[in-house]
Amino acid sequence: MPGLSRQGAVIACVLMAGGVSLLALAVRAEPRATEAGFWFEAVNYASPRLGSAITPGDLEAIEDVARSELARAFEGLHVTVSDRRDARYRVRVVQDLRDLRSRRIIRVAGESRAVSGFGGQGAVSFTFLASGAIAYAPDDAGRASMLEAIGRGIGRAAVHEFTHQFLPTAPIHDGTDIGSYEYESAARREQYFGELHWGLARPLLERRLQVQRNTPAVERSIRDADERAVRDADDALTAAVDRGDATAIARALDYDDFSWITPAGVKLSRTAVVASPPRSAFAGVSDAKAEARRLGTHVVVVQRHSDKTHAMHVWVRRDVGWRLLHVNEVIEGDRVVYGGTMIGAANCINPCKVVPLEPANQVERAVIEAWQAQQSGPEQWAAHIPEDNIARTSNGTYTKADRVAVQRRQIEAGTVVAPSPLTWARIWEFGDSALMIALQPRAVGKPFWGSRVFERRDGTWMMAESYQTSIEDHPPY
Ligand SMILES: [Zn+2]
Repeated sequence: MPGLSRQGAVIACVLMAGGVSLLALAVRAEPRATEAGFWFEAVNYASPRLGSAITPGDLEAIEDVARSELARAFEGLHVTVSDRRDARYRVRVVQDLRDLRSRRIIRVAGESRAVSGFGGQGAVSFTFLASGAIAYAPDDAGRASMLEAIGRGIGRAAVHEFTHQFLPTAPIHDGTDIGSYEYESAARREQYFGELHWGLARPLLERRLQVQRNTPAVERSIRDADERAVRDADDALTAAVDRGDATAIARALDYDDFSWITPAGVKLSRTAVVASPPRSAFAGVSDAKAEARRLGTHVVVVQRHSDKTHAMHVWVRRDVGWRLLHVNEVIEGDRVVYGGTMIGAANCINPCKVVPLEPANQVERAVIEAWQAQQSGPEQWAAHIPEDNIARTSNGTYTKADRVAVQRRQIEAGTVVAPSPLTWARIWEFGDSALMIALQPRAVGKPFWGSRVFERRDGTWMMAESYQTSIEDHPPY
């Protein structure tokens, strides 16, 4: 096997070159990831609801979605999905599949054959899953959303087939949980729309695929170390800003469109900050201790509070180390009643139904949809705001309980409140956390910059941090 001899050669090289890291090598050696080959054979498809037949470009988009479904489902499981046809486990996407056990023609969504320990092979049916996606698509679904649903249906069917192959003797079919990968039929809306979750097969897969997880104690120490490192970096950056050290500042700032929003609501670019370091809201304030909190694996938020002054520094993990991506500073003015979501029968189109932002990928889409849901009423708002969320705004500081109390009063008084629409926004996503910067007008008052950090917790994108800075040099609406 070429793979084996290549590995042998690599280890030999390491021994010859160093001879010291034998122990390190032994400790770090992880079980080889299980390779799952997944590819599309030549397929075509047309349906009156789709309009024109699918194009090669459509197929690429469908395959992208299917692959990201596979990646998401097997995340943390030591499975590498490739397009290799000689992989030990493989699923092909074919035009059509029939159940050969039956004399009648019965079309099926997927099938697999596997022998314990020897790998497996299977296929999923493009025709079956494309027809399913279109049949379950809402009436107002456009072509793009139907193509995406086809990709999801195919990806999820492949997840199910690989699961059969990885666990050839386990009865994985779960007929009770229609929202699970293990559910035995693709004739369900959940195959194509919304989220799917793992059921009984997940712990079996973890055992079978030998997942080596860090213990909670190790995870905690990694988190502590990240937070300590960023707090130190942030103290150094703050000192560099205070003494106007452009070189040190430039080294700390992220390259991907860094921004700094001052308490007056002026958005400074990276170039402006390096050319002429601003006076931070905490310059000369000695009673503010930096608090660092890691959200997801790639974002650490550092905050400082002193009476009515607040600052949030959003640091992101890059290959070169931690870099500062965004700063939002707030000085509280007069307190304004604020509930944070739609109340009553308000006519909420933007942001509840549409926003002027096209997500660049599925994570961005999930983040913006979670935020839109949060804006659409108290129940969804509560489901997306963690208990410990504290909103820092130019109009006051609000705990979750503060805003729930405002919402209750508004409901009792029969008030109709439409949330602030979205004028402009950008999202930076890091897999399990994301930053969104938004520009929004207020129904009454000045427009503001909203800086929000989201974290994916148990499958839901929660708004962990929220800063809102009013734009001083703007007439109130
Ligand atoms: Zn099955």
